[in-house]
Amino acid sequence: MGAGHAGLAASHFLGERSIDHVVLERGEVANSWRRERWDSFRLLTPNWQSRLPGLRYEGPDPDGYMTVGEVVEFIERFAKVSRAPVRTGTDVTSLRRVDGGYQVTTSDGEIRCRAVVIASGACNRPTVPRFNDAVPASVEQLTPFDYRGPAQLPDGGVLVVGASATGVQLAAELRRSGRPVTLSVGEHVRVPRTYRGRDVLWWMNASGVWDQRFDEIDDLARARRLPSPQLVGTPERMTLDLNALASTGVELVGRWAAVRDGRALFSGGLRNVFSLADLKMERLLDTFDAWARTHGRDAEVGSPERFAPTRVPESTRLQLDLRSGEIRTIVWATGFRPDYGWLDVPVVDAKGLLRHEGGVLDSPGLYALGLPVLRRRKSTFIHGIEADAREVVDHLARYLALRG
Ligand SMILES: Cc1cc2nc3c(=O)[nH]c(=O)nc-3n(C[C@H](O)[C@H](O)[C@H](O)COP(=O)(O)OP(=O)(O)OC[C@H]3O[C@@H](n4cnc5c(N)ncnc54)[C@H](O)[C@@H]3O)c2cc1C
Repeated sequence: MGAGHAGLAASHFLGERSIDHVVLERGEVANSWRRERWDSFRLLTPNWQSRLPGLRYEGPDPDGYMTVGEVVEFIERFAKVSRAPVRTGTDVTSLRRVDGGYQVTTSDGEIRCRAVVIASGACNRPTVPRFNDAVPASVEQLTPFDYRGPAQLPDGGVLVVGASATGVQLAAELRRSGRPVTLSVGEHVRVPRTYRGRDVLWWMNASGVWDQRFDEIDDLARARRLPSPQLVGTPERMTLDLNALASTGVELVGRWAAVRDGRALFSGGLRNVFSLADLKMERLLDTFDAWARTHGRDAEVGSPERFAPTRVPESTRLQLDLRSGEIRTIVWATGFRPDYGWLDVPVVDAKGLLRHEGGVLDSPGLYALGLPVLRRRKSTFIHGIEADAREVVDHLARYLALRG
């Protein structure tokens, strides 16, 4: 289910094993990238890291970052090369267990099958806090799914909520368009774009951090909830942290906690939030340094670096009157969640997430791919799917073989 890179990777390995299958896709191949990203979007992972089973980036700029159009082309090429049997325009509206297999109801009829791989994506809906109901109607509200670019917004101030990859990228773009921008900052993951002369994601890869398996992680639930790192992919390979944003005039406020009488109320304690993110970044850089030292790679990379702590503003506002006209638009960059409204098998927990063990669900023959830290830290990233999909399809093949 799903013709994003995860469903197509599953199809690749099923095809390799000559397992008869079909990929059902409600839209087109790479639908999420076509419909759910803003105009200026670029991957935050470098081109050399864009690789799928049997396909890798071979263009002239391995250190660059793909535009959304290039991502769509890359995934389309993968579908063609692996001859994935995709049925586009086929919306799965129900999946239920019947007679030792599954009945899939789609907008185009019913299908019976023995096994299903759910690769419908981890980011089907933007998450917006419930108190958004209490925001005065005079303030426009957008999610990253509605946002295309600054020109679409009314003139005037913008409050961007959330300082992970999407929030910092949209805040920077809106600020460049000349608007006053306030950024509400909660827990976040700070990393430099480059470290000791290499892309930080080179370090994640080389040092093995990204390959860490789900069954080796102490607090897996937390690892699966971690927000995306504050990163942007630009030709200049710029670091987009809170210091960079503040120096362009973005105002930083704390986590948005509530709305009362038309006022947005923010948590205090930015200092703690910043120190925690700085500390975690330091620890990550220490891990990289230790890896370079113990693997004899020090000579190949620049000298160790340390970065200035995140600057705490002299005074931070704890509330903002949303009726005053200062803020004309709110952009909710508060994360995404999957949508399993179509799933009639009891494998979804109270938080609306799939219960699974490395992609194996508690229903025979039912599997998932493309979820955060599914089998490794890199599971949701394009380059992370190959190993996961191979292992999940291995399990599925064993299951089919055992059942004869
Ligand atoms: C804002 C953002 C930025 C990202 N940046 C990067 C990055 O820089 N680098 C990187 O490697 N990764 C990035 N990712 C992460 C990752 O690549 C995406 O989450 C990726 O799209 C996941 O692939 P997928 O195949 O699991 O899901 P998707 O690409 O979402 O594919 C799921 C498919 O399932 C289909 N589908 C859903 N429900 C149904 C249904 N009921 N019936 C039929 N079809 C259905 C959808 O239409 C979609 O085509 C980013 C993600 C987001 C949200």
